[in-house]
Amino acid sequence: MKLPAFEYACPATLSEAVALLASHDGDAKAIAGGQSLVPMLAFRVASPSLLVDLRKLPGLDQIKITDAGIRLGALVRWRDILDDARLRHAHPLLAAAIKHVAHYQIRNRGTVGGSVAHADPAAEMPGVVVTCEATIAVTGKSGARVIPADSFFQGALTTALAPDEIITEIRFPAWPAGRRFGFEEFALRRGDFALAAAAVFYDQDVGGRAANAHVGVIGVGDRPVRLATVEAALDGARVDAAAIARAAAAASAAVDPQDDIHASAAYRRSLVGTMVERALLSASA
Ligand SMILES: Cc1cc2nc3c(=O)[nH]c(=O)nc-3n(C[C@H](O)[C@H](O)[C@H](O)COP(=O)(O)OP(=O)(O)OC[C@H]3O[C@@H](n4cnc5c(N)ncnc54)[C@H](O)[C@@H]3O)c2cc1C
Repeated sequence: MKLPAFEYACPATLSEAVALLASHDGDAKAIAGGQSLVPMLAFRVASPSLLVDLRKLPGLDQIKITDAGIRLGALVRWRDILDDARLRHAHPLLAAAIKHVAHYQIRNRGTVGGSVAHADPAAEMPGVVVTCEATIAVTGKSGARVIPADSFFQGALTTALAPDEIITEIRFPAWPAGRRFGFEEFALRRGDFALAAAAVFYDQDVGGRAANAHVGVIGVGDRPVRLATVEAALDGARVDAAAIARAAAAASAAVDPQDDIHASAAYRRSLVGTMVERALLSASA
């Protein structure tokens, strides 16, 4: 399908990009990999008067790993994450989740900033960002700010970003050695968006009990969420078969999915319990 008409700009600096976005009264849009935005233009879900291409902005394609944590520039592509062997140790949950994103061609172009800004409720990256309490660094005409993941995602395709703000970086806290984790997803076909998925991690105290449990799910609401009741049930427990069964049941009870063309609410509720169960089995193995 043909795209609607738009003006196009490809600025070389962040300040120029912000000024361009701010110049169109909310009617300009950033474009990064184009893997979500171009279909939206084709379907006329969006028809901005100006597209501001971010691809020439310097330094936004970097993956930085330090003792303080991991910083992904907004223009880091799925392929960059999968190709970076350091991340398999520095953030194995992120590396495991991104394996499920889309297909080869899309992974060559799609970016982490685009995924987080797009805020698809079934996308892996926002789920990992919420589960890991990452923060999102953005710059707009009022300056730079850092937004915590739990207040960034406000609904399906809706975020805390102002129209003139550009995501520059996604920042993950450091991943300690020995942390247990699992990521499980069910999709109709490999590379499709998830019908449901679960990201889990926990640390272990000296007695082998779980501490600092984090359980996030995607595909079962209008945004990725952490399941506080499941996390509370895991903290202080040995993650054995009984604890995993309790966590899976608590996960199904904690979500309130809607019927849609892909699956019934009851199916998704059951599926999310299974995803949490499998993720915990993997984490505890
Ligand atoms: C067939 C198909 C299958 C897919 N399967 C999956 C999947 O399984 N899992 C998954 O997670 N994704 C999937 N995707 C989406 C893909 O991963 C997208 O690339 C990604 O969601 C958006 O990244 P992008 O760089 O292409 O963003 P774009 O399409 O360029 O932009 C998307 C939105 O983000 C905004 N934006 C982009 N970058 C920034 C920035 N730095 N700051 C502020 N706003 C910005 C744009 O204005 C736009 O609103 C699929 C896409 C297709 C076409």
